[in-house]
Amino acid sequence: MRVTVLASGSRGNAALFDDGATCLLVDAGIPLAALRQRIARSGARGPDAVIVTHANGDHHRYAGEVALHFRAPVWVSESSRRMLPLHGAPSVRVFGAREPFRVGTLDVAPLPLPHDAAQVSLRVTGSDGRAAAIATDLGEVPPALEAHLRGCSTVLIESNHDLERLWRGPYSYALKRRVASSQGHLSNEQTAALLRRLDRSVETVVLMHLSETNNLASLALERAAEALADHSARLLAASQDDPCSVASTPPRQLSLF
Ligand SMILES: [Zn+2]
Repeated sequence: MRVTVLASGSRGNAALFDDGATCLLVDAGIPLAALRQRIARSGARGPDAVIVTHANGDHHRYAGEVALHFRAPVWVSESSRRMLPLHGAPSVRVFGAREPFRVGTLDVAPLPLPHDAAQVSLRVTGSDGRAAAIATDLGEVPPALEAHLRGCSTVLIESNHDLERLWRGPYSYALKRRVASSQGHLSNEQTAALLRRLDRSVETVVLMHLSETNNLASLALERAAEALADHSARLLAASQDDPCSVASTPPRQLSLF
């Protein structure tokens, strides 16, 4: 399974999950031209299907246009469907926020997350049995998330803000409260607490949706590295503008010798 984060942050989100047979785009929050250019730059390929995680513009804004270009169906949860126009999408398919479903060769398991729009984490398992999960835009870690991430080789997890920077920063009081609330975004501290409980199967952790105003990649990485001190996982921070790719190693083959 190869995961490519094309964009991550409040200016737009997009990530590809590709097992070699099916390529799935999770969120289409950057314009088609930028998306195509980043796909080419990262050596990835265009998606066979698009999933929109929730009805916030930085995740769905270009979904219809992108889906039309790649002639790909768009999958959305029942609650998001009511909020999204998805103009241009050749077809729209609806999934239940707790119901696993299949997209080509990929098994997709959603898990509802607490946010100010109905949001889901997605765990994607490829035909090689390798799984990767994405969880962004959550105000707190729901109890079921730890089990949802178990067995994944790649985990993409939000590390949105540094609490001190948020409260000292330029946001209005109302916005600060919203970001820090249980319906907002995860702080570096909240993410670190989850990372401490990660199981050993995780090979790579990618920190996602870093705030350009209230966080620094160096701070988020430092906190996460402390939390993963006894873990062998590789740690990366996704960027708003530069794609990054993670390929999980193939499962161990039985040797005859
Ligand atoms: Zn977002």
